[in-house]
Amino acid sequence: MVLEAETVGWGASSRNGGMVLTGLKIGAPELCAKVGRELTAEMYRASMESIDCVERIVREEKMECSFARCGHLEVASKPKHYRRFEEWAETITREFGREVRLVPRKNLQTEIGSQMFFGGLVDEGSAGLNPAQYVAGLAGAAKRAGATLCERARVERVERSTESGAAGFRVTTARGSVFAQDVFVATSGYTGAATPALRRRVVPIGSYIIATEPLGERLGAELVPRGRMIFDSKHFLHYFRLTPDGRMLFGGRAAFFPETAATIRESAEILRRDMIAVYPKLAGTRVEYAWGGTLDFTFDMLPHAGEMDGLRFAMGYAGHGVAMATYLGTKMAAVIAGEKSELAFAEVPFPTAPLGLYNGRPWFLPLASLWYRFLDLVQ
Ligand SMILES: Cc1cc2nc3c(=O)[nH]c(=O)nc-3n(C[C@H](O)[C@H](O)[C@H](O)COP(=O)(O)OP(=O)(O)OC[C@H]3O[C@@H](n4cnc5c(N)ncnc54)[C@H](O)[C@@H]3O)c2cc1C
Repeated sequence: MVLEAETVGWGASSRNGGMVLTGLKIGAPELCAKVGRELTAEMYRASMESIDCVERIVREEKMECSFARCGHLEVASKPKHYRRFEEWAETITREFGREVRLVPRKNLQTEIGSQMFFGGLVDEGSAGLNPAQYVAGLAGAAKRAGATLCERARVERVERSTESGAAGFRVTTARGSVFAQDVFVATSGYTGAATPALRRRVVPIGSYIIATEPLGERLGAELVPRGRMIFDSKHFLHYFRLTPDGRMLFGGRAAFFPETAATIRESAEILRRDMIAVYPKLAGTRVEYAWGGTLDFTFDMLPHAGEMDGLRFAMGYAGHGVAMATYLGTKMAAVIAGEKSELAFAEVPFPTAPLGLYNGRPWFLPLASLWYRFLDLVQ
């Protein structure tokens, strides 16, 4: 039974940029220093498998969601970021035997119709899809597999309980209560008071997107010649792509706070200005849509999955959840079904803020926002 507070796919899953990305939020060398070579290699393997996992589900369930293995392009916002790409590419090839391709500035026009960047890194393993169609496809697949989908059923309490001799949980929702032997929490950036221990470990951060009118084939091919998923190398990063119907989709963390009508309005202005800085040719192009959603960051920038207070969970995707949430969802389902599964993301402790300074209300976001803007200036 799927219990959803709003409607299926209402959260980040229907609102994201549809980038099905290899890799994690943290670069390989930094991750090696943090968790060691072995776990880093396992996490990278999982990130590759996660793309295959999405592709397989899309194929098996015959989902129409424009899935395409188009690869991604990360562009260097500063010359020193390109030097960091060289280090990453070297680590990824040496440690994981994978090829990613460096694109020096002089060749960058083959990948992006913008003069703004100092080189790029291409990973052919990544893909793109239409997220709203994908999450609707997942809901359809779950129904066909026998799941009951309950909308407008916000979980208010989860308490240990026993029924007919079986240990489990009584789950109380806005629409009634149900007994479950196993509970899997997948609330990501919308994690709330019903699961306080998880809420203390996830920081909700806003991300915003605009989409232009359709550009036409010629202009689209000039701006994104290879149809890749593109993002830049800053902390306050921008991500952009062509949609399957030929619009420029341009997103970013224009405001740090989770979405409201006001932050969406403000962000749309900022994103339009930033889009024109990347692509001056879009100065006269109409923006037809703007929206926002909430991402789930963790204090160590890694996804986590496992068991806490008897509840299974997976979350903390930091903008890489399209593939990783699908993958960890299938892994945790296998664990619940009794399969043995070794998950690298279950082996690292899931940290909360030091000294109990965070109870789920991210009071520090204005400071964090200033800090990352400062880092973008100096790093
Ligand atoms: C604007 C934006 C752009 C993004 N772009 C990308 C991208 O291009 N590529 C990428 O990989 N990732 C991207 N992400 C991140 C990605 O969308 C998420 O990591 C992923 O969708 C998480 O999926 P999920 O199912 O775990 O959580 P969500 O899709 O957020 O779903 C959580 C659900 O839990 C429900 N819920 C919360 N509390 C309760 C409760 N008490 N009871 C019942 N239900 C509850 C919510 O209503 C919500 O529908 C983006 C996110 C945003 C916001």
